[in-house]
Amino acid sequence: MDLVVGTRNTHKLDELTRILSPLIPALVLHPAAAGEAPVEDGETFRDNALIKARAAHQESSLPAIADDSGIEVTALGGAPGIHSARYAGTGDDGDNTALVLHNMAGLSNRGARFVCAAALVWSGGEIVIEQAWDGALAEAPTGAGGFGYDPIFIPQGQHCSAAELTRAQKDELSHRGKAFRALASHIAKLESTKSKLE
Ligand code: IMP
Repeated sequence: MDLVVGTRNTHKLDELTRILSPLIPALVLHPAAAGEAPVEDGETFRDNALIKARAAHQESSLPAIADDSGIEVTALGGAPGIHSARYAGTGDDGDNTALVLHNMAGLSNRGARFVCAAALVWSGGEIVIEQAWDGALAEAPTGAGGFGYDPIFIPQGQHCSAAELTRAQKDELSHRGKAFRALASHIAKLESTKSKLE
């Protein structure tokens, strides 16, 4: 089954492949066509996930999935939120994490959560599933795995950062893992409907 992924983030593509492939063995994920990315001008993770999935579906005519995700920090009023990828203005993960830690100086409530909206768009409809991963911000980055804010995020129940988890551990616990595992049954239904029509 061919599915287009509305992302140009190779880390996300790797995670989605790891999460979905065991659940839907016939799945072949194709990256979105190179070129202009759609403008993510939605006000929520959900809006932006749909914008990306709709664009990928329109340009390929294949069913498309997309994720919009980010970190919400309680003491910063939910920032960076949907602006996580470009919080520091440079698009650099190290700059983003440094700015979050700088803005947290002197604040004792270190609660944070990752959020992922996972969207599926096909010729017959649209579905979005949102999931969160609760945790707290570390005082300093640790670990070399993962991407983005992983080095400063201590998942609830863990004693290390998300960047120190194995890939399998992160996939099991993460916002993206939970959202896309829930979406997998809807993707599988598309596959079985298609097979019945063939
Ligand atoms: P998007 O590509 O517009 O959805 O931006 C997502 C941004 O949120 C990424 O660039 C990261 O900065 C952050 N983010 C989302 N998911 C994760 C994750 O699993 N680990 C670390 N950072 C993440």
